[in-house]
Amino acid sequence: MRQIFLLILLFIVGQWLVKALRRHDAQTSQRSGANGAAGAKGANGPNGGARAAAPAQLAEPMIRCVECGVHAPKSDSVVVAGQPFCSAAHAQRHGARPAGRDAR
Ligand SMILES: [Zn+2]
Repeated sequence: MRQIFLLILLFIVGQWLVKALRRHDAQTSQRSGANGAAGAKGANGPNGGARAAAPAQLAEPMIRCVECGVHAPKSDSVVVAGQPFCSAAHAQRHGARPAGRDAR
């Protein structure tokens, strides 16, 4: 039983260490970045690449389906009369329904 506690403690300490190391890395890279963009350490290169690549994955805008409220990527959406839908079926259902029932 004591070993399990020790393992958990070790895990937490390890996580904390990694976090502290990363924070330290970010601070030093910010300072060194001000001095020279080239960067004396090779570790700065991959970090910068990862940061630059992350926003590219979130490039696709999301729309909210007027019918069911589900958020869907814009490429998968159907826009009818300026209103976005997650699918053509929902666009048809919304169009078939009288506008008065929209208030929920
Ligand atoms: Zn929908």
